[in-house]
Amino acid sequence: GRASPPLAALSQVLRLERSRRTGIVFPLQKLERYLAPGTDTTRFRVFQPGLAALQRAEALFRSDRGHPIDYVSSAVRMDHAPPPALPEVCFIGRSNVGKSSLIRALFSLAPEVEVRVSKTPGHTKKMNFFKVGKYFTLVDMPGYGYRAPQDFVEMVEAYLQERHNLKRTFLLVDGVVGLQKTDNIAVEMLEEFGIPYVMVLTKIDRASRGVLLKNVLEIQEFVKENTQGCFPQLFLVSSVEFSGVHLLRCFVAHVTGNLPTVEAS
Ligand code: GDP
Repeated sequence: GRASPPLAALSQVLRLERSRRTGIVFPLQKLERYLAPGTDTTRFRVFQPGLAALQRAEALFRSDRGHPIDYVSSAVRMDHAPPPALPEVCFIGRSNVGKSSLIRALFSLAPEVEVRVSKTPGHTKKMNFFKVGKYFTLVDMPGYGYRAPQDFVEMVEAYLQERHNLKRTFLLVDGVVGLQKTDNIAVEMLEEFGIPYVMVLTKIDRASRGVLLKNVLEIQEFVKENTQGCFPQLFLVSSVEFSGVHLLRCFVAHVTGNLPTVEAS
């Protein structure tokens, strides 16, 4: 199999000096020191697991013979979806937001997992299901754009409304450009359906600190003022540098009920 990239595993991150380590494991905390004094940062630390929880979550994402991580199937309609036997999470976002890169980063300790991409224009967009041992499934939803075809909208809506084992939806937002109109359409849909979701800011290595701070503060404010179902803390990730990937693995493990307790760090 392919070797996993550097910093894909916590053991590699723990060898870094303290400030870099914080930047990789808790990217939002790393930003705190650049905020104006008095800025309310309570929402920066809602989910703040300790090392033991991070390690337990990582073990779930590391495949071996007794714990296979596999692509299961693709579906264009709900009746083609695998039976809803396990807790499930799904990832949605605009095309090009970095969704397949992030899923590849999450599964980088299971290098045999193929994260398929279907970007050819006109190619049918599918929901791709991955099974993580006997613990949970992760669904890669088709990327949306403005002018999403009706059958696509119907597939996504049907999935979000009908999937009873869906524990959390991860809505990806581009860290360089921030919230866009099409992202707001997704937010409105999730709010209307009343299902729990969380926002993930991608490609943070590509945004300057100023742009990143602006987008983070804007989104945290937006979430606070305009949403009911959104988790108060924003997750920041870079699939290139692995920032936030370990924390996100831990949050996935948590929301799928696979971390009985999350002790604070
Ligand atoms: P998708 O359409 O949402 O699946 O997006 P992709 O994962 O294919 O990413 C779209 C583009 O952004 C590709 O050129 C990726 O290499 C790039 N990209 C994705 N994630 C990151 C990241 O974390 N950092 C940087 N610098 N580039 C990224």
